Amino acid sequence: MKTILVTGGTGFLGSHLCIRFIAEGHRVLCLDNNYTGRLDNVESILNHENFTFLLHDIIEPIDIDEKIDQIYNMACPASPPAYQGAHAIQTTKTCVFGAINMLELAKKHNATILQASTSEVYGEPLEHPQNERYVGNVNPIGVRSCYDEGKRCAESVFFDYLRIYGINIKVVRIFNTYGANMDPNDGRVVSNFICQALRNEDLTIYGDGSQTRSFCHVDDLIEVIVRVMNSENGLTGPFNVGNPEEFTIKELAEIVLKKIKTKSKIIYKDLPLDDPTQRKPDITQVKTFFDWHPCIALEDGLNATIEYFSKICE
Ligand code: UDP
Repeated sequence: MKTILVTGGTGFLGSHLCIRFIAEGHRVLCLDNNYTGRLDNVESILNHENFTFLLHDIIEPIDIDEKIDQIYNMACPASPPAYQGAHAIQTTKTCVFGAINMLELAKKHNATILQASTSEVYGEPLEHPQNERYVGNVNPIGVRSCYDEGKRCAESVFFDYLRIYGINIKVVRIFNTYGANMDPNDGRVVSNFICQALRNEDLTIYGDGSQTRSFCHVDDLIEVIVRVMNSENGLTGPFNVGNPEEFTIKELAEIVLKKIKTKSKIIYKDLPLDDPTQRKPDITQVKTFFDWHPCIALEDGLNATIEYFSKICE
């Protein structure tokens, strides 16, 4: 039995980790400020004897006496409408101060710490697909840079804590992920399209819909993240994690319309600034090191996700 701290534990990915670890018999400390996370996501384990919820913002340091074995640093708003604009400075602080505070905690507890990094570190990629050696093409002063540069800086401090203090770090770069426990109102494309179709509202494609993303079902993603965390010391990454099957946003809208009986049509809106044109992970490294590959095709993953949203979207 391990004691595992999950920051962002009431969020989309964090809640899946907490639920899995409780099912496996571990002690779980779930930390969140509930800005984009929701206690509903962990309702099924809220009263479990091995589960403790800590209302805290990782921007501030935290001292925890109970001995921690592993830290999954998942806390950060991940949807562009949630991390930009009025929240931009908070986002950078969450990425950078949050990483430093959690690394300090890992140092104190001699814990292994995994950083949830992102495909956004590649910015508007000039290489396709993106592998981990690609250093990216990020606009440092754009509306997305609070997240992109914040996550890049977090990777930087992780590797400095490895070099200076020998902390056992793991870094995963998470590509677009979807599934149960997504917030219906957070503005991501999969949640927007499904909820719009369920509500008979028109599906909003930003730009002409030719931009691409590669969508990974959350169950596949959680499995690889856990494998990375539990790998031998020294396998630090960064590792791309995601599903390399690439779709245009227009194709995604058409698939959703085919699956849901709805009066919705497609409408077009302005493309947000600095919205990446294409994105697809090269996952050779995780395949090689962790004997992992995504198993859930978009069509199947969407069916399960539609079922989830049909219970919570009116
Ligand atoms: N998008 C869209 N309609 C929406 C929400 C998003 O066309 O209602 C587009 C968005 O502009 C981007 C892609 O879908 O090109 C993925 O957006 P999301 O916010 O899900 O993820 P990210 O941009 O972080 O990859």
